This record gives sequence, structure tokens and C-alpha cells, in this order.
Amino acid sequence: MAENEKRVAVVTGGSRGIGRAIILALAEPDLQVVFNHYDPDDVAAAETVRLAAERRCQAEGEKLDVSNYEAVQEFFRKVADRFGRIDILVNNAGITRDGFLSRMKEADWDAVLAVNLKSAFNCTQAVSRFMMKQRYGRIVNIASVVGAMGNAGQANYAASKAGVIGFTKSIARELASRNITVNAVAPGFIETDMTAVLPEKVKEAFLAQIPLGRAGRTEDVAQAVKFLTSEAASYITGQVIHVNGGMYM
Ligand code: NAP
Repeated sequence: MAENEKRVAVVTGGSRGIGRAIILALAEPDLQVVFNHYDPDDVAAAETVRLAAERRCQAEGEKLDVSNYEAVQEFFRKVADRFGRIDILVNNAGITRDGFLSRMKEADWDAVLAVNLKSAFNCTQAVSRFMMKQRYGRIVNIASVVGAMGNAGQANYAASKAGVIGFTKSIARELASRNITVNAVAPGFIETDMTAVLPEKVKEAFLAQIPLGRAGRTEDVAQAVKFLTSEAASYITGQVIHVNGGMYM
């Protein structure tokens, strides 16, 4: 028996960074949010819950490795049983393990492909079963400018994000007849923990490539996601919206 009839959004990697900003952009009293994180220390997840509550939106965080197929299937079954529906999925969780090809470890290739790309398959396949029955759904995959441009030192990451874009377009074609839209948002250089660790020189090189002259904020990405999940975007599917200050056109 479903606990409520609010709209339900699942956001992967919602404990911090872009995922948290997406949750806060979507947050409203009529929305139930469920998000995942990976770190067993859930201080950051608790902060996301608190910030959503300030917007009178109930959010729940659960530790889940989105690259684990079985765990993901079980997670979505639980969400659908409890809440009776899943309206929105944002595949946001992602990692980097940067290095030049000549020195890249197989484990770094595998981890990035698993967390960034296989996770999108895991979560989208699981959620599509419920969305197809509902004949409604909004899926947004977080890609990256690097998936379109490439980037030296990020062959694994760029391949995973280019994969997310191809996946988005294919699934958009498969699910369109069930009133499910599938789009990607490709952020450029956004200020989060992921980019905070980059050496100053690398940050300066990124900034020099941005016509709008500043790094992106998590909210810049979140607003594009919010739009794609809204009724205003009901005729948009299979698209990639670049949020990058003009870094790639
Ligand atoms: P972030 O600050 O490092 O946050 C990553 C989030 O993903 C965290 O909530 C983390 O959970 C979660 N996560 C990591 N591995 C996971 C796993 N195996 N299972 C479940 N959750 C996992 O990253 P971000 O910068 O916000 O990036 C978010 C997305 O935007 C990623 O897909 C990234 O590739 C993409 N992106 C970012 C930028 C940028 O400049 N920042 C640019 C282009 C694209 P824990 O907190 O528990 O570790």
C-alpha cells in the first residue's frame, strides 16, 4: 500500500554537489525525494535532508552503490512499493579517476565506467518498469562537456559521459511512446568537491576556455534539470542541454 500520493523523484548522488542542488531546486511540499549516496558517513546526506525540509519537502537519503545491479533493482522496488509511483529519475552520481592513458589502471577505467555509465543502465532499467506502467516519466542523465569534447587525462570519464549521451538518445527513442522523456544535462566546469581537488593550473586552464568568464554554480545545472522535469518540457526528449558558460558550443 502506497504511503502517499505525492509526486516522487529519485536523485542519485544527492548528498552533496550538483545532486544536492538538484534536490533543492526540485524541492516543494508536493514532492517526495529519495536520494542515494555512497559514503557510509551520512553527515552530508543529513544536511541535504535538512535543507529540503526548510523548503517543506520531505527527502530521504539511503546508502547505495549505484553500480551494483541487484542492489539498485531492490532499491527501486522498495521505493515503488512504498510510494506507489516514481515520476522523476535523475542519474547524477558520478566519480573521476583521472590519469593519462599510458598510466591509467584497469581498475580506474572499470570504476568510472561502472559508477558513471552502468549506473544509468541499472537505475533507468529499474525505473522504466514503473514509469511504463504509469505512462509517465521524466528521466534526466547528468553527462559532461567532456563527453562531447574529450579531455586529455580523462579518457575513462569522457568515455563514460559520451556513453551516457548515447544511452540517453537510445532510451528516449524506446520510451517516448509511453510518455516518458529522457534527456541529458552536460555541465561544464562547476564548483563542487569534484573540481575542488584539481590543481590550480588545471582550474585556470578551464576558466580560460569559458566565454562567460566564471566557473558554473551547482544551481546553474540544477535549474536546467528542473526545467527538463517540468510540464514546460513535455515535448523535449533525447536532447543534451549544455550548461557550460559557452565553453563548448
Ligand atoms: P561530487 O560533489 O563529487 O558528488 C558526487 C555524488 O555522487 C555524491 O553524492 C556521492 O556520494 C555520489 N556517489 C559517488 N559514487 C557513488 C556510488 N557508487 N553510488 C551512489 N552514489 C555515489 O560530484 P559533482 O561535481 O556534484 O558531480 C555530480 C555529477 O555531475 C557527476 O555525474 C559528475 O560527473 C557530473 N559533472 C560534474 C562536473 C563538475 O564540474 N563538478 C562537470 C560535469 C559533470 P558520497 O557523498 O556518499 O560520496
